[in-house]
Amino acid sequence: MFKNTKIAFKYKSDWQLKKSKLIFKFISNLFFSKFLIPTIGFLVRKKIPIITFLVKKTVFEQFCGGENKKECIKVIEKIHSYGVYSVLDYSVEGKSNEEDFDKIYKETLENIYFAEKKKSIPFIVFKPTGIGNVKIYEKISNKNDLNEEEQNSWEKIKNRFEGLCKKSCEKKVFVLIDAEESWIQPAIDDLAEKMMKKYNKEKCYIYNTLQMYRWGRLEYLKKSHIKSLKENYFIGYKIVRGAYMEKERERSIINNYIDPIQNNKEYTDKDFNDAISYIINNINKKISIFIGTHNEKSCELAVNIIKKNNIDNNNKNIWFGQLYGMSDNISFILSKNGYNVAKYLPYGPIQETVPYLIRRSEENSSISGQTNREYSLITKEINRRNKYNKNK
Ligand SMILES: Cc1cc2nc3c(=O)[nH]c(=O)nc-3n(C[C@H](O)[C@H](O)[C@H](O)COP(=O)(O)OP(=O)(O)OC[C@H]3O[C@@H](n4cnc5c(N)ncnc54)[C@H](O)[C@@H]3O)c2cc1C
Repeated sequence: MFKNTKIAFKYKSDWQLKKSKLIFKFISNLFFSKFLIPTIGFLVRKKIPIITFLVKKTVFEQFCGGENKKECIKVIEKIHSYGVYSVLDYSVEGKSNEEDFDKIYKETLENIYFAEKKKSIPFIVFKPTGIGNVKIYEKISNKNDLNEEEQNSWEKIKNRFEGLCKKSCEKKVFVLIDAEESWIQPAIDDLAEKMMKKYNKEKCYIYNTLQMYRWGRLEYLKKSHIKSLKENYFIGYKIVRGAYMEKERERSIINNYIDPIQNNKEYTDKDFNDAISYIINNINKKISIFIGTHNEKSCELAVNIIKKNNIDNNNKNIWFGQLYGMSDNISFILSKNGYNVAKYLPYGPIQETVPYLIRRSEENSSISGQTNREYSLITKEINRRNKYNKNK
């Protein structure tokens, strides 16, 4: 289903494609991804002008929409003209003080106002650790007592969470709450459930995230659905496989507790596919889904279940999502076939997006085994265009 590179890369000029090919060639190189990228990241953070300029024109432009919302608009409108929507993602990470949390909160709140006016941006997203201290989430998750200062921080977290969810619902903009490490997730799940119960009364505006590389999440999904039906509110889940596997496994070994991650990829795939089947099969029962994946088989499975159930391709409770700069073959082909697709479009000052860029580079490197995926699709399209131009 996802082989047609003409559709996948129609929005890219020949020059942009060649640049993308070069970027994926570089980051797939083991030496480059393991040693050079962290060094480049360090130099960008130190604001070395020439390095910053080069990174902005290459990796940053490949994976990010711009340094601010205004810069993103060009990308947003361009992909929207091919039927693909955007999830506006202020991608500043790794902050630990209240002032920074407030800044991120305000920027995310502004994104809701911004998205309200643009049909091309149905979703905004936030990371819980962008608006609150990870240590507080962890203590709440462990049911530890908080001292006075910590209690204040927790109140602020709850207010920021509620501020974003309430405004999203008022402005009719969907909000995705990203999932992070398992040891802070109980606090986040609890807050997200409270927000869904309070604000998803008429429709699902608030989506929490479930990482299916964790065992037990399928049961959580089903229980949470039964609860929401009983208590009469809508729920929405972004279903992903999960991004922190090594960190999770390492911590469980060091601290000697049961590994929260499935034993192998097959179990993760099974739970991921079962979760999307469960939600799509129940799509008329107050539940919505955002399928966040670059896995072609899982997307095809979702498409088949949609067909089998005679559900409209553009059912507003079913969304597919990929990251900007990756898996355009999935995004643009699904969209061409009438499915709802929204790409995460990260943005932020270039120095602040370094952790995000490093993760994307690692994901596409030979270490992760994904070396050839994007590269070979782009090469195929460049060759197709060359052949077409020759025969003209
Ligand atoms: C739109 C979007 C939003 C996302 N939001 C989040 C988020 O909020 N939180 C988050 O954590 N991640 C998020 N991710 C990342 C996601 O969790 C995956 O890391 C990434 O998409 C790769 O998984 P895949 O389904 O695309 O592809 P695949 O290549 O099929 O799957 C790779 C994934 O499988 C799992 N896996 C690999 N090896 C094993 C193993 N040995 N045992 C068990 N499991 C294994 C891991 O989760 C790995 O990332 C998001 C991704 C997208 C596209």
